[in-house]
Amino acid sequence: MLEHNIQYLKGVGPKRASLLNRMGIFSVRDFIGYFPREYEDRRKPIPISSIVSGQKATIRGKVEDAKEVKLNMKLSVFRVRMNDGTGVCFGSFFRKINPYSKFDIFSSLKKIFVKDAVVFLNGLCENNLGQKNINIEEYELFVPGVSQKGALIHFGRIVPIYPLTEGISQKWIREAMFRNIDRLAPEWPEILPEGYAGKKTVVSPRALLQIHFPDEFKDAETARQKLAFDEFLVLETALTLARSNEKRIGKERSYELKRNLLTPFKEKLGFEFTAAQKKVINEIFRDLENEKPMNRLLMGDVGSGKTVVALSAVLYVLENGYQAVIIAPTEILAEQHYLTISNILEGLPVKAALLTGRLSGKKGEKQRALSDIASGETNLVIGTHAVLEKNVGFKNLALVVVDEQHKFGVVQRAELRKKSENPDVLVMTATPIPRTLALTVYGDMDISTIGQLPPGRLPVKTMRLGPSQAYALVKQELKKGNKAYIVYPLVEESDKLELKAAVKESETLSKSVFSGFKVGLVHGQMKTDEREHAMLDFRSGKYDILIATTVIEVGIDVGDATVMVIEHADRFGLATLHQLRGRIGRGPKKSYCVLLGEPKTEQSKERMSVMLETSDGFKIAEKDLLIRGPGEFFGTAQSGILSMRAGNIVTDFKLINESRDLARNIVETDPLLEMNEHKTLKNEIDRTYAPSFGLFKVG
Ligand code: ADP
Ligand code: MG
Repeated sequence: MLEHNIQYLKGVGPKRASLLNRMGIFSVRDFIGYFPREYEDRRKPIPISSIVSGQKATIRGKVEDAKEVKLNMKLSVFRVRMNDGTGVCFGSFFRKINPYSKFDIFSSLKKIFVKDAVVFLNGLCENNLGQKNINIEEYELFVPGVSQKGALIHFGRIVPIYPLTEGISQKWIREAMFRNIDRLAPEWPEILPEGYAGKKTVVSPRALLQIHFPDEFKDAETARQKLAFDEFLVLETALTLARSNEKRIGKERSYELKRNLLTPFKEKLGFEFTAAQKKVINEIFRDLENEKPMNRLLMGDVGSGKTVVALSAVLYVLENGYQAVIIAPTEILAEQHYLTISNILEGLPVKAALLTGRLSGKKGEKQRALSDIASGETNLVIGTHAVLEKNVGFKNLALVVVDEQHKFGVVQRAELRKKSENPDVLVMTATPIPRTLALTVYGDMDISTIGQLPPGRLPVKTMRLGPSQAYALVKQELKKGNKAYIVYPLVEESDKLELKAAVKESETLSKSVFSGFKVGLVHGQMKTDEREHAMLDFRSGKYDILIATTVIEVGIDVGDATVMVIEHADRFGLATLHQLRGRIGRGPKKSYCVLLGEPKTEQSKERMSVMLETSDGFKIAEKDLLIRGPGEFFGTAQSGILSMRAGNIVTDFKLINESRDLARNIVETDPLLEMNEHKTLKNEIDRTYAPSFGLFKVG
């Protein structure tokens, strides 16, 4: 029954089914697995005499009077007078009149509000000098002899409140749930292996009943925890399986430290790796040498120096005659990586190529690029997802580095692995997240963290100022010989109107406030080489100020830029703001970040205050996650595995840890989930994840 189409559930039908579909409910199982967002205590009605204005209350009274009053041609009201022995309260239902219909708009109300009937009501109350009114939201008839025996649905109990979309009412969904749940709950699978001596004392059917219609508030929470634990167990087991499957596939590559690339590279850098970088480089080298393919996530805040860590890995691979790929989420980022890396590797015998969608326009060029990759002459490829395209073939791809993982999904990772004989995969993210969460979201990976910035960095001072104060600060810094960014963060680089506004404003600024200074401009619609030039000119000192869009979010690296003014800072996400701010404070000088713009929504206010409070990437990511929720935070690529119904991937970390321990035990004793007691769990994994991720397929 659980797998049946929701349309066939009693009382639903095709019309309601399509509304339910919009809420993600397609099967009967989806329906009973649609959990309340909160509960309302309607166990005890209050005496009418005690009603005060502004109170949301539940009352129970006898109908003394009920009548229809036509207010005008268009509007009619059905007024009721209720008495509960302590006082009298009035309630009204307003309805629009349809002049072409003979249907009695109040017919259903008239059946319930008959004289002397006992009815429960709830809603917002008023008390005007003793005259009491209730703005009725819900009502239910009390039938003596029947209602006492638990047949009341909307009153006399702790009532579930569901998240809804238009077209479905609380009353409808609650009733449909109530009428079906007793029969369906026993079908809900029990995935916990028998004998699991955890704290999960409720069995599934009871948990399902209690999450919808709890006896006590604590029963609702116990039920939620049990169901959340189940959800996490399915996810964690799937991840553990994916991991153990991968570990079983070997690779055949041999490594030896030749140092013909690594040593000159280190000498060119002119700085020592931090302890954190050394530790991570070591971990990566061990992974490369291991016969199991590497699958490692590298978390490190903006500016922590991930690029040189990745390059060390790349060079180790190239030294041994293999090819490597670096993938960025956007063309701009790929181009900037290409620039930085070509710069660092200048003079070393490495042939790097940039491969993005833009190349595809020029046919000959792309052909040549591809054949150089296929022959192995090009040994380092930097690009976007274009590298994933089927027509890109490698000679001996051994390492894939993916920058900015949170914009990159599990599916693509699986895709990449098909590109060659189990390449080693290193994924980097500047959005560090709490470790427990990382273990889940990236549960199939090993995790390394660079928890330390290179020495000598001063924290950036972040402020909110008015524009004139901000520009005065910019001038003051410029006079000291430093440089400045003024950023117009566009929502989309392709947004023509906004871009025009940004370009125009920059012209105005350079002619007025900053007329004595050299001002450069860079944005995403400029040609690559124009943009490169502008950025290089800024670095070399040809410009004092660089006016830019979010193009500079990642990549640009100018040590003596000490001030950044972010226009319309209220409109942009925490991740972007944090990345932007990471462009300054890179040298030994004190730096300033000024946020302009008036935050209007609660969320934007919160984002601004987080930016003022901290510059710790971990804390910022955590806040961002709380503000936006995991689905939006990780983007669509990951949201599939994060759409928990009972569980909360951010706050339920205890349950997550516990479920992970159990998952690992299970997979250890039964790597293919063949044992009888793991059958239900295996089914759940297949049902939940198999359609979206071939990666998680068991066996
Ligand atoms: P991110 O982790 O944000 O990608 P980058 O790799 O771009 O950071 O590094 C930020 C800056 O710090 C670069 O200019 C880089 O050359 C520099 N850097 C990296 N490691 C060190 C170090 N150990 N000492 C000094 N500077 C470093
Ligand atoms: Mg980086």
